[in-house]
Amino acid sequence: MSDCLFCKFVSGELKTDIVFENDQVLGFKDIYPQAKEHYLFISKKHTENINEMMSSDSEGVLAVYAAIKEFTTEAGLSDTGFRVVTNLGRDGGQTIFHTHFHVLAGEALGSFGS
Ligand code: 5GP
Ligand code: ZN
Repeated sequence: MSDCLFCKFVSGELKTDIVFENDQVLGFKDIYPQAKEHYLFISKKHTENINEMMSSDSEGVLAVYAAIKEFTTEAGLSDTGFRVVTNLGRDGGQTIFHTHFHVLAGEALGSFGS
């Protein structure tokens, strides 16, 4: 999509700090990290949110999780652990409408719901 920030990272029109790339997936550092290590993983195919992605790019969901597995294993993060988060819509706090998966790592993260 022409006016999508993350699509511009995929096309190379805008630069970002890429940590992983293959045919289907791009992984890059979040510009405002919420943990010592904070990455965003996306399918190169544009969808607006995870529900739309499940309808039109479900293979992309698998590809993103495979990429996260590959990256975190190589980076040694599988040993210490990490968190994957996807926000959807207003109440979910989604601000960028190209589906993305936050990978938070590098420190002990707070527990949910407390
Ligand atoms: P959301 O709130 O939609 O779940 O997450 C959007 C994420 O994109 C936020 O964590 C935010 O810090 C990140 N972000 C926003 N603008 C940029 C940018 O220009 N570059 C990078 N690398 N991340 C960005
Ligand atoms: Zn996009």
